[in-house]
Amino acid sequence: NKEVGLDFIRAIVADDLATGKHAQIVTRFPPEPNGYLHLGHVKSICLNFGIAAETNGLCNLRFDDTNPAAELQEYIDNIEKDVKWLGFDWNGDVRHASSYFGQLYDWAIQLIKQGDAYVDLQSVEEIRLNRGDFNQAGTDSPFRNHTVEENLALFAKMKNGEFEAGSAVLRAKIDMASPNVHMRDPVLYRILNVEHHQTGDEWVIYPMYDYAHPLGDAIEEITHSLCTLEFEDHRPFYDWVIAKVNTPAKPRQIEFSRLNVDYTLTSKRKLKKLVDDGVVNGWDDPRMPTVAGMRRRGFTPEGLRDFCHRVGVSKNDGIVDVGLLEFCIRQSIENVAPRGMAVLRPLKVTLTNLPQAMTLKHARHPNVDLGEREIPLTQEIYIDRADFEEVPPKGFKRLVPEGEVRLRHAYVIRCDEVIKDTAGNVIELQCSIDPDTLGKNPEGRKVKGVIQWVSASAGVPAEVRIYDRLFNNADPEEGDDFMQNVNPNSRTILQAIIEPSLAEAQPGDRFQFEREGYFIADEKDHTTAKPVFNRILDLKDSWKG
Ligand code: ATP
Ligand code: MG
Ligand code: MG
Repeated sequence: NKEVGLDFIRAIVADDLATGKHAQIVTRFPPEPNGYLHLGHVKSICLNFGIAAETNGLCNLRFDDTNPAAELQEYIDNIEKDVKWLGFDWNGDVRHASSYFGQLYDWAIQLIKQGDAYVDLQSVEEIRLNRGDFNQAGTDSPFRNHTVEENLALFAKMKNGEFEAGSAVLRAKIDMASPNVHMRDPVLYRILNVEHHQTGDEWVIYPMYDYAHPLGDAIEEITHSLCTLEFEDHRPFYDWVIAKVNTPAKPRQIEFSRLNVDYTLTSKRKLKKLVDDGVVNGWDDPRMPTVAGMRRRGFTPEGLRDFCHRVGVSKNDGIVDVGLLEFCIRQSIENVAPRGMAVLRPLKVTLTNLPQAMTLKHARHPNVDLGEREIPLTQEIYIDRADFEEVPPKGFKRLVPEGEVRLRHAYVIRCDEVIKDTAGNVIELQCSIDPDTLGKNPEGRKVKGVIQWVSASAGVPAEVRIYDRLFNNADPEEGDDFMQNVNPNSRTILQAIIEPSLAEAQPGDRFQFEREGYFIADEKDHTTAKPVFNRILDLKDSWKG
């Protein structure tokens, strides 16, 4: 297919529709419910659901729940929530590989009868050693030539719980000398004396992922089974299973490169360790690259989808600049987030000559009609400590003793007096307004700096959580232990004062705090009585295209 702009997978799909190989495309997103979804999964979700949507096809959501020891209903519930939040809907009901266990078992019996599978009574360790490696062919199991009848009897004993876990497995009978290690009689079933979240104690034998996955795809008549590159070596076995069982549907596995983003860890196992060790406050901590964490952080589904679109799909492994993700998120928020003023490190300012309290009215957004808000101006206000310097560094454009600055949306003020406590800390500034500067420039001089401020009496206290990168290293896995690369200062909590219009926020509402960045009212902890905001991102864009 020569259509421009199609990635290699979409080109294959378009061909298969054009040639009539398939009348309708069916894809699936197949997570193992052993953790929360992360940024890497978002790529796979956008690809699978995206192709279905673009071709008027279908995309299933299937839990590949073949390893009950690591799986939880909590994970299932959150994966469903995350996929919906990203803006996708699956075909029909959610599916579970475990609901195919009966069928998979019958097909295992079929493989035994065909002479394509046998029960191996070697220990786990012996099986591992006899598999050989890259340089060395494997060694046949002494049990490899059991008769069909012996294998059927042994497999029945496995199923009936008459073997200890680890003392018997069912293996495919392929080729112990294959150059592809995955073709050296891979295990099809193992014994696990573990309750399953869906099937309870019905089974003590569980199919291996590599056996269940192609057959789950075939049962669901998946046309294109998209997975990441590390499964390329598993494809011959995928095709072997489909061919030997001879399912009516013959799904085609296609591999694409994983999403890797700098400063970002995308491995459920390692993310779980951050949660288990208390490095973060749960899977949905706003520093986590999980969908739940990114949602709570304030990232948008639109921004995440745009990011995946821009990253594209290929077979080239590369590392994507996290600046691109941040750029996409900012873009998605910029024109929908109302603006307001918040002072994150309050310093009291008294406007000595303000004749009376007043209410200013300003647009909530400079370019988009999001309505107006009222901004009370009172004699006592707060400005940010960082906007005043007693001994200013060169080029400092904000407030200094005897200097002037504009209060955003209000007057130009002059700092007349600096008040300190006994320890010498600045605790208050006494300033005077220039009454002729509301909405116009001062006469005869230029005032360059503009700073945000909030009325002391009308402003509302709010907890503001500032997040930084969770890892100091561009490659979080650099060195022997990724835990050593964790940034110990990835969260700072500030007691801020916000303008009243911001205090109307509902959990999940996003804003731009002028000059500070984008913020979201925390989905769990925010109430109008006790506002809590997370900084989504600052305003500085590092993405250079
Ligand atoms: P992890 O290594 O984090 O546990 P996984 O691949 O084991 O991830 P699954 O639940 O099996 O997690 O993944 C579901 C789907 O998401 C698979 O098709 C997998 O290939 C895909 N996926 C997982 N991580 C990434 C990634 N970083 N980039 C693209 N796709 C991914
Ligand atoms: Mg997996
Ligand atoms: Mg995994």
